[in-house]
Amino acid sequence: MAKQPAKKPIIDKLALVGIGLIGSSIARVARREGLAGHIAVQTRSADTLARAKALGFGDSYSTDAAEAVRDADLVIVSVPVGVSGDVAAAIGPALKPGAIVSDVGSTKTSVVAQMAPHLPANVHFVPAHPIAGTEHSGPDAGFADLFQNRWCILTPPTGTDETAVNLVRRFWEGCGADTDVMTPEHHDMVLAITSHVPHLIAYNIVGTAAHLEEVTESEVMKFSAGGFRDFTRIAASDPTMWRDVFLHNREAVLEMLARFSEDLTALQKAIRWGDGDALFELFSKTRAIRRGIIEYGQETEAPDFGRTPSAGKPAKPGA
Ligand code: NAP
Repeated sequence: MAKQPAKKPIIDKLALVGIGLIGSSIARVARREGLAGHIAVQTRSADTLARAKALGFGDSYSTDAAEAVRDADLVIVSVPVGVSGDVAAAIGPALKPGAIVSDVGSTKTSVVAQMAPHLPANVHFVPAHPIAGTEHSGPDAGFADLFQNRWCILTPPTGTDETAVNLVRRFWEGCGADTDVMTPEHHDMVLAITSHVPHLIAYNIVGTAAHLEEVTESEVMKFSAGGFRDFTRIAASDPTMWRDVFLHNREAVLEMLARFSEDLTALQKAIRWGDGDALFELFSKTRAIRRGIIEYGQETEAPDFGRTPSAGKPAKPGA
């Protein structure tokens, strides 16, 4: 990727620890928008590093996190949430005084608890979570527009230096995102219902279909356009990332899941007793929520969900 013409960077040295879907999307947009004077790229494996190098969105590359963050003004950690503590322990001693450490983890209370103890008192910690992603992983999956018109939630601990929070805010706005600030606990509750439980439902329904005995797997795939297919996109999301999300947002997910189960039982009852009014009322409410999401600019009227008119019949399995 060619270096773009210089705009005035808002950060001298940006270090990206982890360069998968999210890290590489940050690298791409930071390069395109000239947000950083130098982009240091780090990932643990030689294979991913070689791929990132070949894609060319960094100025320096390393498998050593401590080396990558040396002299960095802003460090963004983009690894599975379950290893954020280990990463913080590795980079802590190498951070320069005044550096800002941030992350992109999908859970926040656990990430703060894991990372904060390893960060020196003279650096600023501004955890963040861009609400943008896809079911793909790795540096090839990233793209510069991933964060465009999406929200990025910042969860700085009380008393965090305002200048540091504002810099992280400006950085994400430079990536095309809108920003909001909340506590890690509130973030985890909101994300449990908007992201984590929906993923669990998708994993569960696809798993249930896979375990059926009365309906064959090929029938499930052949007739999937009735609704099932749209769940499979979500259920194809990265297993490591999502295992960690559920292990690290346990309380909020269990709370939302309990409410979900109660509502599901009510629906079950309505179907059993033929209560069409209850079903109709709920389905009308849910339609309005989708319209609201479109009005908030988080979806378009005509999402394709893979229904490209020009797409022909998919190849038969094994063909
Ligand atoms: P990804 O594409 O799978 O990339 C993961 C990165 O973390 C790679 O650089 C990988 O290195 C590194 N990594 C994996 N395991 C590691 C370990 N045990 N120790 C150190 N490094 C490790 O993942 P991603 O989708 O970018 O997700 C990264 C973070 O973003 C997660 O915390 C996730 O919760 C959050 N997030 C994801 C999405 C989404 O939709 N995907 C959206 C918002 C936030 P190697 O390849 O070299 O092993």
